[in-house]
Amino acid sequence: MKSHRKELWFNIPQRRGFKNITYDVQKEVSESGIKEGLVLVNAMHITASVFINDDESGLHQDFERWLEELAPEKPYSKYLHNRTGEDNGDAHIKRTIMGREVVVAITNGQLDFGPWEQIFYGEFDGKRKKRVLIKIIGE
Ligand code: ZN
Repeated sequence: MKSHRKELWFNIPQRRGFKNITYDVQKEVSESGIKEGLVLVNAMHITASVFINDDESGLHQDFERWLEELAPEKPYSKYLHNRTGEDNGDAHIKRTIMGREVVVAITNGQLDFGPWEQIFYGEFDGKRKKRVLIKIIGE
């Protein structure tokens, strides 16, 4: 079995944002030389997510609105966590809702997606450097 590991670094300039990382993941699959296997992609921070969905118009604004309804950023006093002096209680919850990682099958050297599936990085406490782990196993 072969394996391949890569960290992707991001610095999202706003507190929240979504970034399509499908191309970056496929690039690592291609560089790994692995034709049949699995790729794990996970956020390495507890205030960011990796998830799969479509890149359709409006969808990311809908996610943003829905997450703000469920776990609004403000008032900061809403969260017990923020009594530690942090202000990111909402970001921890948003990360848990949107998920830590995805696993995608690799078939014939390609990401074996369903229709319209793409991989996204979701940032909920940005304006700093954060990273995503890509781990590929197979042969
Ligand atoms: Zn925190």
